Amino acid sequence: MDIHEYQAKEILARSGVPVPRGGLAYSPEQAAFRARELGEGPWVVKAQIHSGGRGEAGGVKLVHTPEEASAYAQSLFGRNLATRQTGPGGKPVFRVWVEEATDIAREIYLGFVLDRKSERVMIVASGHGGMEIEQLSEEDPESLIRQTVDPAVGITPFQCRELAFALGMEGEQVAACCRILNACYRAFRDHDATMVEINPLCVTGEGRLIALDAKMSFDSNAFFRRPEIAALRDRSQEDPRECTAQDNGLAYVGLDGTIGCIINGAGLAMATMDMIKLSGGEPANFLDIGGGASPERVVTAFRTVLADPKVQVILVNIFAGINRCDWVAAGIVKAFREANVTVPVVVRLSGTNVEEGQRIIRESGLALVTADTLADAAAKAVAALRSEAAA
Ligand code: ADP
Ligand code: MG
Repeated sequence: MDIHEYQAKEILARSGVPVPRGGLAYSPEQAAFRARELGEGPWVVKAQIHSGGRGEAGGVKLVHTPEEASAYAQSLFGRNLATRQTGPGGKPVFRVWVEEATDIAREIYLGFVLDRKSERVMIVASGHGGMEIEQLSEEDPESLIRQTVDPAVGITPFQCRELAFALGMEGEQVAACCRILNACYRAFRDHDATMVEINPLCVTGEGRLIALDAKMSFDSNAFFRRPEIAALRDRSQEDPRECTAQDNGLAYVGLDGTIGCIINGAGLAMATMDMIKLSGGEPANFLDIGGGASPERVVTAFRTVLADPKVQVILVNIFAGINRCDWVAAGIVKAFREANVTVPVVVRLSGTNVEEGQRIIRESGLALVTADTLADAAAKAVAALRSEAAA
């Protein structure tokens, strides 16, 4: 789960990372109030959305008067801000962060990520941070400085100093940089984060270090022991399709295609998506209804998939081990009665109680396309899509 910049700054500041003074605003008036409250300008007003790249998308602005802060906030509120990371739809702005403007001499990139290969926290840094870091990481990935942290030992003073020197720190900056690295590592570890990113970590005109931007992501599987992090969730920033699915306990990821998938088991779901692609179609989603799916759960899955207007065909692929084909079949019939299914549905059932499941489908009298194998099901789904398009 992602959080907002101002929330990440608060967490990092508590661990000891220096951040600019600032205040949150939910309205243009409040933005002006925050500016006055901070004292002398200029200030920077920043759209709070779960995305980077706000600067180049017009979501960060230097302002010189409280009125200007208010006017700029007014222009942001209630509209979607599209960045390189959000896609064309963008994300809605409901909060802005107003903070002191800092005199920037140099911008550094600092990232802490989970490196699956080494199974460790990896620190990635660059002396050339700021808004061009993505370009740099693509064109010259070797120029990025990397260090991994042994979880049993933690980040060592030696590693910190090595990083600080590689980033061009001098004099007192070395110790300050080491404090920041330690603080970020603690914040990462102690909150079950999956990512901490400061970009830019700014070297000010006076040579001080301060985090001008902050990003953190967390492992939602750890929320049972991190209620304070779970509470930072902002549903307005999430894909509404995924939000509702999650509320209903379904593992759902929205995609861009037209074939809606209702499948049990993550592995089978992945294989089905591959097979759809091989057959010339595009999946509209990943959906795992899980084991022991009741008819009601199947209906919920149908509603979730149908809520996506791009869906033109639904493919149900069940290999019932813990599940029961008769329950799934009953769920499909129930969905047709209750969920207003207007698109062709291809069903492939296999495993526990398959005969009973097929009987229910047959006797329902519904216009369902049945399939025997995964390949057959994918081919029929794509064929149904094409005949729909032709019609
Ligand atoms: P994003 O990464 O989403 O574009 P940032 O918070 O990094 O947003 O802001 C973009 C750029 O705006 C930064 O690289 C920095 O140059 C400038 N900036 C951000 N905050 C401040 C600040 N408090 N004072 C001065 N410049 C800032
Ligand atoms: Mg940034």
